[in-house]
Amino acid sequence: MSILIYTESEEGKLKKTAFEIASYARALAGQTGDTVTAVAVNVDNTSELGNYGVDKVLKVSDEKLSRFNARAYADVIKQAAEKEGAKMVIISSSANDKYLAPILAVNLQAGYASNVVALPESTDPFRVKRTAFTNKAFNITEISTDVKLIGLSKNSFGLKEAEGSASEEAFAPSLDDKDFAVRTESVDKTTGKVTIADAEIVVSGGRGLKGPENWGMIEELADVLGAATACSKPVSDMGWRPHSEHVGQTGKPVAANLYVAVGISGAIQHLAGINASKVKVVINSDPEAPFFKAADYGVVGDAFEVVPALVEKLKEF
Ligand code: FAD
Repeated sequence: MSILIYTESEEGKLKKTAFEIASYARALAGQTGDTVTAVAVNVDNTSELGNYGVDKVLKVSDEKLSRFNARAYADVIKQAAEKEGAKMVIISSSANDKYLAPILAVNLQAGYASNVVALPESTDPFRVKRTAFTNKAFNITEISTDVKLIGLSKNSFGLKEAEGSASEEAFAPSLDDKDFAVRTESVDKTTGKVTIADAEIVVSGGRGLKGPENWGMIEELADVLGAATACSKPVSDMGWRPHSEHVGQTGKPVAANLYVAVGISGAIQHLAGINASKVKVVINSDPEAPFFKAADYGVVGDAFEVVPALVEKLKEF
C-alpha cells in the first residue's frame, strides 16, 4: 500500500514543507512497509522529492488549479488517495492545508490529526503526538478510522535525505465545477524576502522600537541572519509595519528554528502564536518583561544599543 503526501508549492516550485513531509512519510513507511506517493499540483520539477524518500509522484497540471482552492484541492488529493489505495494521507499544517483538511477528512471519511510533531508511538492502534493549547502542551491522539489524515507541524521532523529516485506519472483528476463556485482571490505580497511561513529564522519587533523609522536595524539584523521580519499586533495596528507581518494568536503562527523578539513584552496572545519556535531569544530593556520567562536566551538592554552591536558581530562570521 501507499502513503500519500500532498506537496505544497508556490509559483511552480515545491515548498520546504514538501520535503519535510516526504521525510516524515519515508520514516513512517519504514515502520509500516508502505511506499510513498506524492501528489503535486502544477509543479515544474519534482525530481528532488526522490532524494527525500518519495517513490512516485502524481503530477497534476491544470490551469484551473493555478490558485489555491480548498474544495478543488481536497478533491484532487482524495482522488489521488483512492487511486493509490492510500490508507494514510499526510499534509502540512500550513494555513491552506488546515483549510482544506476538514473537507478532505469528510471526503475520505478519515480521522484527522493536525499539528502532529512526531512519528506515531504505535501504528496499531494508531497514536500520534500533537501540540495542544496553542503549543503549550502535547497530547496523544488515537485515530481509529480506516483512512487516516495527518497534518504535520512545520519544522517538527526536519529534512532527512534518502537514497533513491521518484518515478513520475501524469494524473488528471476530474474536477467538479461546483468546487470553483467560491473562488479565493489570493493576493500575494511578495517582497522578494523570506516569508514568515517559510522562514527558519524570524526577527520580530514590538512597540519598544518606538516608531517605524527605527525598523532599519530590524531589517539589517534579519538580512545578516537570512531571516524574515515580523512584528507584534500593536505595531501593525498602528501602521508601522504591514499586517502581513503581524504574528501571534490573531496573526500568523511562527514555527521557526530561531525567533528573535526585539522590544516585545511577551503578552500571552503574542506568545501563543510563536511558542512552536524552537529557540526564542528576547531583547528587552525591562528585566521584568514576561517574555524572559518564555525565552531560551535573553538580553536585558536597550534595543538601540544591542541590535546594532549584534549586527556588527554577526557580520564578522
Ligand atoms: P508592549 O506591550 O508595549 O511592549 C513593548 C516592550 O518593549 C516592553 O516590554 C518594553 O519593556 C520594551 N522596550 C521599550 N523600550 C525598549 C528599548 N529601547 N529596548 C528594548 N526593549 C524596549 N499581540 C500580538 O503581538 N499578536 C497577537 O496576535 C495578538 N492578539 C491579540 C488578541 C487579543 C484578543 C488581544 C486582547 C490582544 C492581542 N494582542 C496580540 C495584543 C497583546 O495583548 C499585547 O498588547 C501586544 O502583544 C503588545 O505588543 P508589544 O509587546 O509590541 O508592546
